[in-house]
Order: sequence, then C-alpha cells, then structure tokens
Amino acid sequence: MGSIFSKIVQGEIPCYKIYEDERTLAFLDINPEAPGHTLVIPKVEVDRVYDLEEADYQALMATVKKLARHLEDTLGQRTLIKIIGIDVPHAHVHLVPFTGNLDEKVSAAMTPAEMEAMRAKLEYKK
Ligand code: 5GP
Repeated sequence: MGSIFSKIVQGEIPCYKIYEDERTLAFLDINPEAPGHTLVIPKVEVDRVYDLEEADYQALMATVKKLARHLEDTLGQRTLIKIIGIDVPHAHVHLVPFTGNLDEKVSAAMTPAEMEAMRAKLEYKK
C-alpha cells in the first residue's frame, strides 16, 4: 500500500483534512482548481473507483453526497463532482466549487495560511 493517498491515510504525509470516517477521508486538494477543492478518497487503496468493493463504493459516494451539499451550503457555489484518476493510482473523487470556469489547468494558488483557513471553514463534524 504505497500510494501518496495511503500515506495521507496513515498520517505519514500531512493534509488539510475536513472529514474522516471508518472507510473514507476528505481533504483539500494541494493544487486547487478553486478555493475549497476537496478530494474524497476510500481508505482502502485501489486504483479505480470501479475497483472498489460495494461497501467501500457506497461509503465513498455517501461521503461525496454529504460533503458536496456541505461545500455548497458553506461556500454558496454549486459543487462539481468529478472523477478523473489519471495522476494518482488511488481512487478519489474531486469536489470543486463551481466558479464559472471548467478549465482544470486553472489553479487557485492558495497560501498555506489560506488553505488552513479554508480547512477550518469546511471541517465537517459527523
Ligand atoms: P487526478 O488523478 O484525478 O487526475 O488528480 C489527482 C489530484 O490529486 C490532483 O488534483 C492533485 O493536485 C492532487 N494531489 C496529488 N498529490 C497530492 C497530495 O500529496 N496532497 C493533496 N492534498 N493532493 C494531491
């Protein structure tokens, strides 16, 4: 289990965590397309979302649904839900507040202080 996201799950690499439960973890994307860009991952390491066992798939999508609504309620922007998965071979779902721009190459270029402030704003307690 060696993906960068598994290292985040195991606490070996830090992240701006906004939610965690038994099967899933959500944290801010380190290179956000928009402020609040969040990744939701299963704790189990599989490459593709459709490689997941049913219970982990259902848990992932339950967290996606909950946090997509939470991001919209908190930030006032519709949440885009995207699955790409070509860079990191550990299943993950992007939640991106829609700013009117669909260009994935756009970076919000946030400072560590801004990322921490966003993390605190979006932190979701069960
Ligand atoms: P994809 O695989 O869906 O094309 O993109 C992978 C995403 O993971 C990218 O948006 C990238 O910025 C993000 N990412 C890659 N490494 C890290 C990391 O170490 N920490 C965080 N928070 N995000 C990462």
